[in-house]
Amino acid sequence: MLHQFFGGVHPAGHKELTEGKAAAPIKEAPAQVVIPMSMHVGAPCKPTVAVGDQVKVGQLIGETAGLGAPIHASVSGTVKAVEPRLTAGGSPVMSVVIENDFKDTPAPSIKRRDNVGALTGAQIIEIVRDAGIVGMGGAGFPTHVKLSGAVGKVDTLIINAAECEPYITADHRLMLERGEAIIGGAKLLAKAVGLKEATIGVELNKPDAIEHLKSLAGEGIHVEGLKTRYPQGAEKQLIQMLTGRQVPPGKLPADVQCLVCNAATAAAVYDAVTEGKPLTQRYVTLTGGAISEPMNVIAPIGTPVSHLIKLAGGFKSEPERILFGGPMMGIAIYDVDVPTMKGTNCVLSLSAEEAPVQDPAQTCIRCGKCVEVCPMKLTPLFIRMNVNKRRWDETMALNVLDCIECGSCNYICPARLPLVQSFRTAKAAIRAEQAKEKAKKEAAKA
Ligand code: SF4
Ligand code: SF4
Repeated sequence: MLHQFFGGVHPAGHKELTEGKAAAPIKEAPAQVVIPMSMHVGAPCKPTVAVGDQVKVGQLIGETAGLGAPIHASVSGTVKAVEPRLTAGGSPVMSVVIENDFKDTPAPSIKRRDNVGALTGAQIIEIVRDAGIVGMGGAGFPTHVKLSGAVGKVDTLIINAAECEPYITADHRLMLERGEAIIGGAKLLAKAVGLKEATIGVELNKPDAIEHLKSLAGEGIHVEGLKTRYPQGAEKQLIQMLTGRQVPPGKLPADVQCLVCNAATAAAVYDAVTEGKPLTQRYVTLTGGAISEPMNVIAPIGTPVSHLIKLAGGFKSEPERILFGGPMMGIAIYDVDVPTMKGTNCVLSLSAEEAPVQDPAQTCIRCGKCVEVCPMKLTPLFIRMNVNKRRWDETMALNVLDCIECGSCNYICPARLPLVQSFRTAKAAIRAEQAKEKAKKEAAKA
């Protein structure tokens, strides 16, 4: 029996723009890709190539020393620059710029593996690490680190195929077109952490995907349809729906013996283990009312957004806002030349009708709606009040660090207060304070 999670909202889906459109490799490859050395949680990678080097698809171009995931060339060609370039985050990040020779020459390391069934869990984790796989739902946490931490500690593997954000259909298409890869990846992930079963959670608004995955599933793979409600795809809410377990504030899925991996991550694991392919491309939904031809594409990582927009017929109207991701959790981008990254599942170009210019923020009317919808059972109105006064201790006590930035409170607020934005600011400020404190304590010990 499925369980329930608290709160949540029902924003309009807008998935009809692209859900029926099969993804295809982009018709015209970009002349240049810009591959940032930081597309993951952890320290940026150090470039392992220099200007003038020839590179092949899948060749290592960035290596990590600590927490992180290696980075590989997504096209073959010549390294034109190794320098900071602007990314979606709004700040320059060290990047490797490759001029495409349009030959798609694969690195010699990309080879089909014959002995997949004989691999141990530890060997699978090592392959996942070497392939540079990170959480592809947008979190960017290095998958090998997540797996290593889960060995012997979890009893449940969940593949997150909820795709609850409006407009995005990249995982939906992936399920229909590469269902075998998702299921194969789920089995490999289960083996990596010592389990024999996995459950794939899909929202019920994708009945064709549920049916297709069920027809492929086989022993040990369970496919569960989930009531459509945002943010169904948030890790903690998905765990609660499928297992009834609640991840306590400040804790992780592993604390309730669960491991959650995104569907695209599972497919990337399958490709890495069976074909020896590192993570160099991904499904991206190009959508929104301002785009001429909404579509799904398979794009090399590092493709400039401007190139993808051109392939989708350009803009049919001036976009009011362009986002990486969906309208609830997406990040606004202000330069269409920024590159796509490992976590970029959608480029959303909203028209003026879809994202009307809002009235200047009004005053909180204490309606309590934000509390009713918060899936983390937080009190957004009180958190905001304390954030505005920069009272960090009080903000912390209200568990702001548990905010998953789902945007449900923003969506429901009749006063249109920019709640999530202020929580992001608060979290960054608190984490900076905590880091300062830690550094001070370490310096005192030394
Ligand atoms: S929903 Fe908006 S107006 Fe209502 S209590 Fe929350 S912050 Fe205030
Ligand atoms: S406070 Fe955070 S978790 Fe709660 S609804 Fe708002 S954005 Fe979502």
